[in-house]
Amino acid sequence: MTVAKNAYKIAHRKVAHMRGIASSQRCIYCRRHAAQWALNHSRATKVTDGHLVWSEAPDDYDPLCVACHRIYDQAFAKDGQDALEDVDRRLRDKGLARCLLEFTARTARWR
Ligand SMILES: [Zn+2]
Repeated sequence: MTVAKNAYKIAHRKVAHMRGIASSQRCIYCRRHAAQWALNHSRATKVTDGHLVWSEAPDDYDPLCVACHRIYDQAFAKDGQDALEDVDRRLRDKGLARCLLEFTARTARWR
């Protein structure tokens, strides 16, 4: 294993150690159960070897579900830092729409 890969793994293990496993949290966007700790590219102090990107600070990661994590990382991979504000807004809107749908479905039973 390369030095970078090792540092990347240790950083992720540190997040789980300090903040618990991701699945014990809810996704910050859609409120479903999270599955992974995702690096927040907007606020993280990033370390990279030119391929892997990570942060040494556990607070630089957010709990995300698989679907939101995929959308977030794909937007970042495609358009870099510039895409983040937009993808963040889109994911929040999508999460909000989902919460409204669930709320409507729950309250429909009372009508
Ligand atoms: Zn989500």
